[in-house]
Amino acid sequence: MDDFQILINGQWVAGAEDSFDVINPSTGSAFAQCPAASLSQLDQAVEAAAQAFNSWRHSTHEDRCQRLLRIADDLEQEAETLARLIVLEQGKPMALALSEVMGAVAWTRYSAQLQLPVELVEETPTQRIELHRKPLGVVASITPWNWPLMIAVWHIMPALRAGNCVVSKPSSLTPLSTLQLGRIIARHVPAGVINVVTAGGGFGYAIARHPDIHKIVFTGSTATGQSVMRGASSNLKRLTLELGGNDAAIVLPGTPVEQVAQDIFQAAFLNMGQTCAALKRLYVHESQYQAFADALVVIAERQVIGDGLEPEVNFGPLQNLEQLELVEALVADARAQGGQVLCGGARLPRPGFFYPPTIVTGVTDGQRLVDEEQFGPVLPLIVYHDIEDALRRANASEMGLGGSVWGADLEQAQALASRLESGVAWVNCHAQIQPNTPFGGWKSSGFGVEFGLEGLLECTAQQLLFVRKPESE
Ligand code: NAD
Repeated sequence: MDDFQILINGQWVAGAEDSFDVINPSTGSAFAQCPAASLSQLDQAVEAAAQAFNSWRHSTHEDRCQRLLRIADDLEQEAETLARLIVLEQGKPMALALSEVMGAVAWTRYSAQLQLPVELVEETPTQRIELHRKPLGVVASITPWNWPLMIAVWHIMPALRAGNCVVSKPSSLTPLSTLQLGRIIARHVPAGVINVVTAGGGFGYAIARHPDIHKIVFTGSTATGQSVMRGASSNLKRLTLELGGNDAAIVLPGTPVEQVAQDIFQAAFLNMGQTCAALKRLYVHESQYQAFADALVVIAERQVIGDGLEPEVNFGPLQNLEQLELVEALVADARAQGGQVLCGGARLPRPGFFYPPTIVTGVTDGQRLVDEEQFGPVLPLIVYHDIEDALRRANASEMGLGGSVWGADLEQAQALASRLESGVAWVNCHAQIQPNTPFGGWKSSGFGVEFGLEGLLECTAQQLLFVRKPESE
């Protein structure tokens, strides 16, 4: 494995603190060492970004667009290497890791080609009013461990495209693919425009409080997002907070089970369930409850579980032991409350953090497995008798990231979906995202959006240019 270093001001340097282990979730053992930056190296990275901003802010849109397109080309060319690194540090199967890299490529190309035009608000004989968009300065990116490369790209590319300079801090559980991403970006931008600092605990809060950072794009849990918000108040940093989710899906009576079961399974177990906008609670009408449970169990039992580097494997381990233990605790609680575990339900007796896809029936709202975000391969099925009641329960969550309605009658499904209290309401699909569609949560799932022009605009401050014209004779 390569020697990894941190990136500050275009230089690769050793971390000033003791390096830490990066664990392969398929073995439970360390496969690499990651450098740990000190707080003074964080200061250096922020200072480098601030210096670079003085000229990067004046680079043309065309220049930044071309540089991002070259980054996308390099990402694509190095897809295999990046995907392998993602499998090693994150655990997902190779095909999924490759699709993560190709997602990163698509998002980078999309960000590159977005435009930030000056908007003419009003033009009269006496005045001209224009709305301009200016970069903010130093933007920090703090990312989680579930989609490490793609989420880093979601944060970094729009920030750069808008003319900001970036300090990126990946999760200490999956830091290496972001360091590799930094290597690629650094080839195409001036020194200091991108900096990547890796570190263990306590570092994120130093970023949140840093006086010379102007904005933080944070993706992670709601509790950490609240802490980031507290720290960011010190200098009123702008924030985009993409936090946890507990997405409900409501299946309308009469939905063809065989047609949708595979899609529902996919949406719930994507990335072994470790996806913010995965389907996490399934509300099924009593008339089809057993049929859905049976169909999902058949699919769950078809998954080939193992090390993501083995070609036939399509279901990997959880990323870390803590997450595995949370899933175990939620399933134990469901059992204790009378829930039936129809398949899976116990960690596999082998090294690594393997937990099979698990379907649980006989659970309901007010129980941990339904109320809390499991962020793992367990899907609770909740029976409902009345559609209005299902909607009420779906909306009762503190979270509001996404939600979906499934049914053969599109009009009925769409009408119900539009009453979900969430940033995205899907019909007959779930967890579908794409670069041109703004994405963000309501309630404790955060605020602000990523993707689309709306996402790019969040990397800017607006400036109204108000010009009074000379009075004509
Ligand atoms: P986490 O909140 O534990 O960590 C996220 C990042 O924050 C990591 O880089 C971590 O080192 C850093 N961090 C930890 N403490 C910090 C602090 N006090 N201040 C600043 N940064 C700090 O989240 P996780 O366990 O890595 O990821 C799982 C969570 O992320 C889930 O809740 C999931 O729903 C959420 N998530 C949300 C989205 C979304 O788009 N809404 C996407 C992916 C994941």
